[in-house]
Amino acid sequence: MIDDHLYKYKKLINVFSDKTRVREGKTYIPPFLINNDIFEELIGVIKGVKPVMEMNFYDQNIEKIEESFMELEEIYGLKYKISDYKFLINSFKDESSVVERSDPRRGLMSVSVSPDKKKAERSEYLFLKKSELKSDSKKYSHEFATLMGYPECCVNFAKKISGDKNNEKAKRENLLWSKIEIRSFMESDEHSKLLNIFTINPLIPHIPCNLNCEPSKEYATKMKKVFKDEFPAIEELINYFLDLHALFWHYSEKFLIHGKNDNSIKERAVKYDDIQEFSYSEDRFYGETEKEFKEKFEKTKELLLQGNKIVMKKDSFNILKDDVLLGSVEKDYEYSCVLF
Ligand SMILES: [Zn+2]
Repeated sequence: MIDDHLYKYKKLINVFSDKTRVREGKTYIPPFLINNDIFEELIGVIKGVKPVMEMNFYDQNIEKIEESFMELEEIYGLKYKISDYKFLINSFKDESSVVERSDPRRGLMSVSVSPDKKKAERSEYLFLKKSELKSDSKKYSHEFATLMGYPECCVNFAKKISGDKNNEKAKRENLLWSKIEIRSFMESDEHSKLLNIFTINPLIPHIPCNLNCEPSKEYATKMKKVFKDEFPAIEELINYFLDLHALFWHYSEKFLIHGKNDNSIKERAVKYDDIQEFSYSEDRFYGETEKEFKEKFEKTKELLLQGNKIVMKKDSFNILKDDVLLGSVEKDYEYSCVLF
C-alpha cells in the first residue's frame, strides 16, 4: 500500500536527525527540515551535488528556520539568506503577490542556502525578482535557474516556454503557460522513472526539458548514490516512489497510483491496485480552490477507488473495473492533467 510506504519513509528518514552522524562523516539534517519537501535537495547542497537551493516556508516558522540553518552553518559552513518579503498565495494555479515581511497576513517566505555566501544572496535576490509580476521576470528566471545548477538544456527549455508574467491575457488563454511540468511531459517520447517529477520526493529539483534528459538523469543518479551511501535502507523506498504512476493536475493536486502500464491499447493506460490522494489546496493556500475543480477531483477519487484501470484520452479520462467502464471525467484542455 502506498500509505504504508509513505509512513515507512517518514520514519526512516528521521535517522538524519541523529547528530552523532556528523562524527561518522555522514549527513545530519536538523529535525525541523526533515519532513519538508526540500529535504533531498538540501542533502544535495551539503554533499556538493548542487551549488545553491531555495526553499519556501510559512512565516510563522521563521524562528525554527533560523535555528535550523544556524546549526547547518556551524557544522557545514553553509550560508543562508532569508527573504525580507513574503508571498500571499491565492489559488492552486500559483497566483501570488509579494508583500513586505511585516504585513500581518499569513504568507510564504523563502530562504536561499549555499556554501557560497554570494550565491545565497544572489539567489534570494533573483527569487524575488523572478516572482514579482514584472515584464522582465523572464531574464531573472533564467539567471536563477543557471545559478541553481540546473542543466543548460533544461534552463533553455524553461526560458522557451515560460511567458511574460505581466501578460494576464496570455496566461488566461493558455493555462499551460506556467505549467512547465506538463510541457515537459508533452515533449517527452520516453519517460525515465529516474526523472519522475510527478511523485513525492523526486530525485531532481528542477523540471527536465524532457523526461529522458541525459544531464538530468546524471544528476538523479548522483543523488541516488548519495542516499545509498548515507543510508542504504532508504534506496528501496526511493525506487518504490519513483516507480509509481500519477494522475497529475498540479503538485498540490494529484493521485499517486501503484500499477503497471497497459500497453495492449493505443491510448496511455495504467492498471492499478492502489491509489493515494494528495490534495493540499485547502490547508496550503489561502484562497478557495475552484469549486468546479474540487468536484472533478472528488468524482475522480470515487471512481478510482472502485476501479482498477485508467485510460487517458484527449478530452477526458476513463476509469474501468475489469475492463467495464465505471465513468468518465472531462478535461478542460488536452493536457489539463496527465497520466504519468
Ligand atoms: Zn535537459
